[in-house]
Amino acid sequence: MKVLVLNCGSSSLKYQLMDMENEKVVTKGTYERIGQDNSFVTIKQKGDKIRIENPVKNHEAALKFVMEELLTGEKYGVISDLNEIDAVGHRLVHGGEKFDHSVLIDDEIIELIKETTPLAPLHNPACLLGVEACQKLIKDIPMVAVFDTAFHQTMPKENFIYPLPYEYYEKYKIRKYGFHGTSHKFVSQRVAEVMNKDIKDLKIVTCHLGQGASLCAIQDGKSINTSMGLTPLAGIAMCARCGDIDPSLPFYLMDTLGKTKEEINSILNKESGVLGISGISPDFRDVEAAKAEGNERATLAIDFYNHTVAEYIARYAVSLQGIDVIVFTAGIGENQINIRKGICENLKFMGVEIDENANNCRGEEVEISSANSKIKVYVIPTDEELMIARDTKEIVEKM
Ligand code: ADP
Repeated sequence: MKVLVLNCGSSSLKYQLMDMENEKVVTKGTYERIGQDNSFVTIKQKGDKIRIENPVKNHEAALKFVMEELLTGEKYGVISDLNEIDAVGHRLVHGGEKFDHSVLIDDEIIELIKETTPLAPLHNPACLLGVEACQKLIKDIPMVAVFDTAFHQTMPKENFIYPLPYEYYEKYKIRKYGFHGTSHKFVSQRVAEVMNKDIKDLKIVTCHLGQGASLCAIQDGKSINTSMGLTPLAGIAMCARCGDIDPSLPFYLMDTLGKTKEEINSILNKESGVLGISGISPDFRDVEAAKAEGNERATLAIDFYNHTVAEYIARYAVSLQGIDVIVFTAGIGENQINIRKGICENLKFMGVEIDENANNCRGEEVEISSANSKIKVYVIPTDEELMIARDTKEIVEKM
């Protein structure tokens, strides 16, 4: 079975064709700057990275180019006909309370997804553009929606309710949802496999540390708490997002500094976090390099980040009543050796101890805790596309 995985952002489209007989990637690529004059797509094939400039007006045109040139075309094609694709798996950002698992897409599901748009006004419409483009280009193909929020629907109410007037939850579904669910689910299942344990016997804290970052407390293989909230701005400070701040701050910025709502939104989402404190870059590689040269604000930004991630892990020791294993994943979690070390140093009091040699790794599945560590620590590279393809295959096979 071949599954095409699609992940659409407001101006981007990521695709990955998976052969589910062996769970291998046949081809993958990313279309960027869709709708602009300089759109381009980067593809990865047989180890080569190729950039193709091809301006497109919208997602449908981008997907048409992917299908006609990159999947079936003479030069880059990997299959002879689109009919070889058995199903499409779509990444959807927000499923609200309506979706606690992946679903086969039909007209009714599309309407239900549209109803969640107020919760993710930027993200869900972009994801739906991918669904609509696919419907037009490959008729009658089964499509599955996999939601970033679904894995966290198992959170108990006391962990998802906000201390606001209760009717906001009842009337408008204002509550904590959490994101990166596909990644948290994947790495928690994988760490149990690597440890050769039943996931039901493990109390796991997964740390998905990418540009967007969230932590998740997992018991019995289920999410019971997570750091992002109604939106992906909450929780730990991120590369450029602020994470948890005093909720009065936006009013203060408005009243005292005369900022508009739009300006504040942009500041909190794009100019804060590690970029905001360091003033250097949202990329940890740049901030680490500046710290190595003695830059004080870079050092402050990294110390702040490491401390807050550790604080969240310690919080989840309360949610889980103990922790057996901590997992690091995503761009920073998989690659930033010193960040992992810095976070774990804050957790020494809980008996966390890193083996520095083992921690000297990037993008590999490795146990990085020492033999004496009371809590195991692993690096597990995430694979959200594989998880989406697996869910898609499972649902389509049951049809
Ligand atoms: P996204 O949320 O967009 O998927 P990523 O998971 O790619 O983001 O994370 C981006 C961050 O990961 C960057 O700030 C960068 O510092 C870090 N990162 C990514 N790749 C590497 C690498 N090979 N070495 C060191 N750091 C990396």
